Amino acid sequence: MKIGDVCSFCGRKHKDVGMMINGGTAAICDSCAEQAYNIIKEQQKPADSGCPFELDKDELPKPERIKAFLDQYVIGQDNAKRRLAVSVYNHYKRITQKVTTDDVEIEKSNIIMVGATGTGKTLLARTIAKLLHVPFTIVDATVLTEAGYVGEDIESLLTRLLQVADYDVPAAERGIVFIDELDKIARKGDNASITRDVSGEGVQQGLLKLLEGSIVNVPPQGGRKHPDQKTIPVNTKNILFICGGAFDGIDRKIARRLNTRVVGYAARRDAADIDMENLLQYITPTDLKSFGLIPEIIGRLPILTYLEPLDRTTLRNILTEPKNSIVKQYVKLFAMDGIALTFDEAVFEFIVDKALEFKLGARGLRSIVEAVMTDAMYSMPSSGETELHVTLEYATEKFEKSEVKHLQTA
Ligand code: ADP
Repeated sequence: MKIGDVCSFCGRKHKDVGMMINGGTAAICDSCAEQAYNIIKEQQKPADSGCPFELDKDELPKPERIKAFLDQYVIGQDNAKRRLAVSVYNHYKRITQKVTTDDVEIEKSNIIMVGATGTGKTLLARTIAKLLHVPFTIVDATVLTEAGYVGEDIESLLTRLLQVADYDVPAAERGIVFIDELDKIARKGDNASITRDVSGEGVQQGLLKLLEGSIVNVPPQGGRKHPDQKTIPVNTKNILFICGGAFDGIDRKIARRLNTRVVGYAARRDAADIDMENLLQYITPTDLKSFGLIPEIIGRLPILTYLEPLDRTTLRNILTEPKNSIVKQYVKLFAMDGIALTFDEAVFEFIVDKALEFKLGARGLRSIVEAVMTDAMYSMPSSGETELHVTLEYATEKFEKSEVKHLQTA
């Protein structure tokens, strides 16, 4: 009998197996090879540590480290950064705590961030996500409606979380969800309406269920639930919710409240001390209630923080300081074509001026830089040039002929 006529492992004959691999001094059939492969895979499991979301208590990023990490990408916003850093750290501690006998159970503290659009709420959330070892997702509250109406069911907020966790339910149950545009589900007007408020209070009631911690049946593919769709039960008790919203007009409510207090008997703050340019810093849960959030929701978002408006200096810094600042990104794009890109300081001032003039905030900076750079990005890669120094004159000329300019009248 030749080597290869029978499997050296199971002894089956060549004609009885699908395939025989001949190794010179021994042979192995396809089913033994498959079995061997499975044994090896099984043995290797602990070595590559299984779940990508495994947390090691000694490796938890401490609040100061989280803040320092955020500092590399987000300019200013110290208050929001510190609050976020502490909450995320506590979240880690809570989910890694061992069951103890002292009955002290750490409750989660969901966060709400209030700040004008384009001040960095989403950026903060995204940056935190880079550092995290738990599933993280950003969802938008505007798509939600009360059950029975057009839109998405509240439960679908958790679909994305399940997807990032690769449908690993225990991992998702320790995750973090950033809910953007929470203000869009505020009740319109301070008084409960007698007509049904499709996008307001009903949705808030639904959301409350999630924030409080309960078992929620999540449609695995999102969208609306239908009777014969399978759902996955997810316990939200340990999911950290971070909410964000612009809450347009809340400054007027804050001003009104401060004013009455200043005038009132118990006035402690002098009217002159109030920084009217940045009223959000005085925000309290009462203002969220006047804006139209139901008290139960406010109670479930115990950490309230705000974002500062972006002034000239901040906008100027945003342009060049963050680790992946807009300018650094363009320099890199050009460098990939072997072109050294440099700017006059006056160009940065010009870009900031335009962003302020069009009231575009940080969001506008990119469109303006893009408008200035488009011509060069089009022609330079094939021109063989190796240098571009952008002067104020060049920037003004390119900007004037661009379409962004028309935003002024829009
Ligand atoms: P929001 O969620 O508050 O509406 P974003 O976080 O989406 O605003 O900000 C829009 C863009 O503006 C970001 O992608 C970022 O480039 C820039 N930006 C805003 N605020 C900051 C900041 N504080 N530091 C750095 N970049 C910022």
